[in-house]
Parts: sequence; C-alpha cells; structure tokens
Amino acid sequence: MGSTNRSTQRTASGLISLILCVLLAIACVGCYQLYTMKEAAIVTQNQLKEQLNEASVELTASQETIAKLQADITEEKNRNYDPVAKRMEFYQVAKQLEDAVLAGTAKCKIAYLTFDDGPYEATSMRFLDVLDQYDVLATFFLLGKNSDLHKEIIKREFYSGHTIANHTFSHQIRNGIYRSVDAFIEDVVKNRDYIQELIGYTTNILRFPGGSPTAGNLKDGIVARLQELGYGYVDWDAEDGDGKLINLSKDEYVENLFNTVHDQKLMVVLLHDYCEGTLEALPEIITGLRERGYIFLPLFYESNVVRKS
Ligand SMILES: [Zn+2]
Repeated sequence: MGSTNRSTQRTASGLISLILCVLLAIACVGCYQLYTMKEAAIVTQNQLKEQLNEASVELTASQETIAKLQADITEEKNRNYDPVAKRMEFYQVAKQLEDAVLAGTAKCKIAYLTFDDGPYEATSMRFLDVLDQYDVLATFFLLGKNSDLHKEIIKREFYSGHTIANHTFSHQIRNGIYRSVDAFIEDVVKNRDYIQELIGYTTNILRFPGGSPTAGNLKDGIVARLQELGYGYVDWDAEDGDGKLINLSKDEYVENLFNTVHDQKLMVVLLHDYCEGTLEALPEIITGLRERGYIFLPLFYESNVVRKS
C-alpha cells in the first residue's frame, strides 16, 4: 500500500514537472516571439522614421528650389529675362511639392491665393505691394480691361511672377456669356488673345464667372471646348466673402476666411482685388495661413486643383 502511494506520488510529481516544463517551454517560445515581434516593430519604426526623414529632406530641398526660383522670377526683370521659361521650371518644382503634400510625405500644406475681376485702377497696385512685402506669389483671374494703367498692372503682376489667368473678357453673366457654349468660348478666346498680345503669355487656366456651377447645363459642353483649347479650370474651397459683401470690416473678412479653412492640403482661396477690406485683411490672412502650416504658390496648369474635365 505504502509503495503504491509512493509510486503514485512519484507519477504525480513527474506529471507536474512535465506540465511545468511544457508551460515553461510555451512561455519561452511566447517570450521569444514577443521579443522578435518587438524587434520587428522597432525595425519597421526605424524604417518609417528614415523614410519620413528622407521625405522631409527632399521637401526642404524642393521648398528651397521654389524659394530660389521665386526670387529669380521676382528679381530678374531685365531685358534678357525670359519669364515664360523660368515659369515652366518653377511650375515643375511646384508640382513635385504638391504631389508630396498629397502623398502625405510633405509637412506643409499649399494655399493658392486667387484674385478675381481685376485689374482695378484704384486698388490692384496696393494688393501687389502687400504680396511683395510678404513675398507671396498669387494668381490673378483677369478681365478684358485696357486702359494704360490696367495694362501696367497686368505687366507688373506678370513680371512679379504671379500667374495670369483668364476670367473671360466681359464677365457678363446675365444675357451674355452663358447664352451658349459658343458665346462663352468666344469671350474666353477674346480675353486670352488680349492678354497674349499684351505680355506674350498664353493663359491656360480659367475661372468661370460666378464659379463653374453657374454654367448649368452648358458646363459639359464648355469644358469639352476648353480642353480643346488646352485650358483647365478652377473653382475655390475657401473665401472671405468679398464677392458678395464688399463693406465688411477687416476683422470680419479675416474671420470669414478662417471659417472656411479646414486643414485642406491644397486650398484655393477666392478673393477680389477691388475690396478695400480684403486689402486690409491680407497681411493677417497671409500670416494666419503661414501659422497653420500653409505655403503659397501661384496656380499652374498641371496642378491637381486645376480641373481638365
Ligand atoms: Zn468674377
């Protein structure tokens, strides 16, 4: 009886030892797996960090290139200067930066300031002074205005490196350009030719007066014809409201604008260079957007925000 008990006890303790060994082995394998998983996670994390560093170095490089080209465009205004060739070089770098922003590898965001309906004799030059002062390149959607001063304004906008774009010759929304596709395109071509003759640059970006939805059921037909002309078009996704209300205070324009800024990676801002309130608000708009991580670029045809269909 006694020996049977001892033998049972031996078997039991052997079994317990075996279970303990198995448990220990499982724990060891588990620990090893955890260890290797952690190692793998560290490797992945380091790889990601490396990739991010590389991307930010690349981005800094392209921002530097953009800054240099911007300085070139702004400063080299002598007779041998070819603003069109320099512009193309600039746009290529801008496109790379835009793609990096969209891919999430660039830390900054891009704001395209656009000014519609100009040039204005009373105000446009002062807008240009502020843009110069803050080293910002923007886009002007021009109408067919042809006094000597208007021509001077357009030339200064162009030779400062801003993008010159088309907003139709007449901007006549009622009983005018939206009568038919032909009427609209005729007005676009008239303005394109006028600007081309003045500065030797062929515009290729259009903003529909009132925005593209204003074209209603003509829009598809117009866009097809714009494509044939090598034109893209752009609407906007932020504004200070100066297209509808022209007598607000500076603070109200600033507030309106930032109410429409929602961290858009690429953001097209609609403004008008006839509005005194916007002119006063412009420094705060520029510094406020910079504080939110935006850099400023002029629009270019290849941009992701310029629609081609
Ligand atoms: Zn307009």
